[in-house]
Amino acid sequence: MDTIKEIMAIVDQRDPNQPEFRQAVLEVVESIAPVIEKHPEMRDAKILERLIEPERLLQFRVPWVDDRGEVYVNRGFRIEMNSAIGPYKGGLRFHPSVNLSILKFLAFEQVFKNSLTTLPIGGGKGGSDFDPKGKSDSEVMRFCQSFMGELFRHIGPNTDVPAGDIGVGGREIGYMFGMYKKIKNEFTGILTGKALGWGGSLIRPEATGYGATYFAQNMLATKGESFKGKAVAISGSGNVAQYACEKVTELGGKVVTLSDSAGYIYDEEGIDAEKLAFIMQLKNVKRGRISEYAEKYSNAIYTQVNKDLDHNPLWAHKVEAALPCATQNELNGVDAQNLVKSGCMAVSEGANMPSTPEAVKVFQESGVLFGPGKAANAGGVAVSALEMSQNSMRYNWSREEVDTKLQSIMKSIHDDSMAAAEEYGFGQDYVAGANIHGFLKVANAMLDQGII
Ligand code: NDP
Repeated sequence: MDTIKEIMAIVDQRDPNQPEFRQAVLEVVESIAPVIEKHPEMRDAKILERLIEPERLLQFRVPWVDDRGEVYVNRGFRIEMNSAIGPYKGGLRFHPSVNLSILKFLAFEQVFKNSLTTLPIGGGKGGSDFDPKGKSDSEVMRFCQSFMGELFRHIGPNTDVPAGDIGVGGREIGYMFGMYKKIKNEFTGILTGKALGWGGSLIRPEATGYGATYFAQNMLATKGESFKGKAVAISGSGNVAQYACEKVTELGGKVVTLSDSAGYIYDEEGIDAEKLAFIMQLKNVKRGRISEYAEKYSNAIYTQVNKDLDHNPLWAHKVEAALPCATQNELNGVDAQNLVKSGCMAVSEGANMPSTPEAVKVFQESGVLFGPGKAANAGGVAVSALEMSQNSMRYNWSREEVDTKLQSIMKSIHDDSMAAAEEYGFGQDYVAGANIHGFLKVANAMLDQGII
């Protein structure tokens, strides 16, 4: 208890205006407290105090010019959180909501997630409050070039290797990679999520969504269950949601919902491969809205976001599994109760911290199998690390090879989290298990490396 109070007092005193960061730290510290009590050397070395302070925090101006010649100034960030077990690794997010609290929560989570993957990668995160929505390709290119015009100084294949996140997909990675190459006159793997023709890895675009589905599959298997014949709710319609939808369908599940920030669609018949192809074209090429799905498929129902509701009706449909794949805190306590009432037995977080603490409590008290983002969505960064390995070897593995590695990594994350939870008396609590297992590797590396 003292450990929890001490660490939260530091966060409250130093970062009083960072609610998302506070939420992420509290969740981890609550699980880690018994580990610290068992290991006084970790308390003496102030491991937790060091973990909550980024090794380096960069903030910079990103000026750019729109197609009409008007000048804009955005903020760019890179949080280099912890490099105890490898180079900083974590995505870049371009979204108007981006601020230090959100990026620090993401960077903090990333440290434990990356440790869980079994691969040698430290944790980082970055991005900008730039909104790519509604911008032309040339505007996005000029922004990305300006962003990399500063970021290039701080990253490198053995230092810090960013990837994509919300608002940063293949197009943005391409523009940033091009700028880095021009400035440094060097073709190296400084970003992951690259296109296949110039250093990308097969299965990287699919990895987060597939991984979250594999994680759910592993959880269901502990109860002798599978996706076969189950109705599944998914939120979001971006990279993670699309491939979660694909894999759930392949495994025999029926995905009935997808969403964007304006609303969601419910398709009782299920979003099959042909309908998913329509969504991929709509979201990745046309950059349209999910409401257009209901215009194309008349059996589907579109519901607009209603901010006056105390819940999101997307989570009130009758489903047996749910994969929130949009953004943080998108599923609250009332939503969790609705899912429990409808008979939902497993929740696997494709997004980072999509369930509020109240929702997590409801799931755990109701016996719902709950896979937290830092374990369930680690497949993305795991395949990013495999992309780094392939870049270093100047060699490409086949689709099957990468997918097999991904499946085996997700199984290790599942089994290791479950074993750690059991060892520390948390039963089948994947939140505690993931936090403890992810923490131990980083903490031991920090002890070995001295006070730095
Ligand atoms: P995308 O930008 O491809 O898609 C994001 C989706 O979420 C869109 O449908 C978007 O709708 C919706 N969304 C974003 N912000 C909000 C919001 N404030 N309210 C409601 N809906 C919102 O991002 P990704 O699919 O890559 O990322 C989704 C989540 O997965 C994030 O939490 C990310 O951190 C996490 N993640 C991603 C990984 C990856 O490899 N890409 C790896 C691990 C985690 P709209 O188009 O209207 O904005």
